[in-house]
Amino acid sequence: MQSQKTHRKCFSFEFFPPNTTEGAEKLAQTAKQLALLKPEFFSVTYGAGGSTRERTLNAVLDLCKAGPAAAPHISCIGSSRSSIREILADYKANGIRHLVALRGDLPSGTATAGEFHYANELVAFIREEFGSHFFIEVAAYPEYHPQARSAQADLDAFKRKVEAGADSAITQYFFNADCYFNFVDECEAMGLKVPIVPGIMPIGRFSQLARFSDACGAEIPRWIRRKLEGYGDDTESIRAFGLDVVSDMCERLLAGGAPGLHFYTLNQSSLTTDIWKRLGL
Ligand code: FAD
Repeated sequence: MQSQKTHRKCFSFEFFPPNTTEGAEKLAQTAKQLALLKPEFFSVTYGAGGSTRERTLNAVLDLCKAGPAAAPHISCIGSSRSSIREILADYKANGIRHLVALRGDLPSGTATAGEFHYANELVAFIREEFGSHFFIEVAAYPEYHPQARSAQADLDAFKRKVEAGADSAITQYFFNADCYFNFVDECEAMGLKVPIVPGIMPIGRFSQLARFSDACGAEIPRWIRRKLEGYGDDTESIRAFGLDVVSDMCERLLAGGAPGLHFYTLNQSSLTTDIWKRLGL
């Protein structure tokens, strides 16, 4: 973990693009509150197959008004080189310099894979077309990506993204600090030096968390799952227990050298702010 410790600590908050006026107002309110914590940047997700192209850009431009820089996510699966070039040119024309570059997942029922197969091809394309204009983040998976042939194959895929020109990485969320430390050690053994920032999912509702985790392959350790299940509809207890578990893990990650934290806020400020306060950041 030594070299991760040498990176400056970077804290960031992720949002999804709202699709109603009410949602946009809520996001503006959330961003205003979270901007007070002075994160390095906000980021905004991108819908599968480009379904939120306009909304992601609009949310990024709105968020920039709240203070910190904002980074749009962009995914390439199912897209042509010309459409990705157009989106990136649009981002550049709007003064955006920071991206989260992903393969993404094809919406179910979509047959065409497009001109990109994996995120390393997108990173290489961004570098070919736009040089060093963008600071590029990529995704990393301490518990390994669910579609990876093997743990080593996934590490190799991560290495290809870094070698293609990624500047930094944000991980899928996890609830087990050891998998993060192990992943970082493996990356360092392969000579990778980019910061690998842990993605943090605050715990608010168990059913939602279980659904997300099943979809993205993030493991909820049995003891945490059993406790959360046991609380039933008692939201207050779920939040209190979740705050303890997630804050303790964040403390361990930072003490162990993690170069910051990236919070999956789900457009809510309270859970993230509570963890932030608990950590004394
Ligand atoms: P890749 O790095 O391309 O990896 C995908 C899979 O392919 C892995 O299993 C990898 O091992 C394998 N692989 C890579 N190269 C090869 C190869 N040459 N041969 C065989 N296998 C290979 N999704 C969205 O739709 N929108 C978002 O905004 C979004 N934001 C995210 C933000 C973060 C921080 C994270 C962690 C995930 C995000 N995702 C988002 C989810 C992401 O799109 C999915 O996890 C997707 O399945 C993989 O994207 P990737 O960029 O990690 O893909």
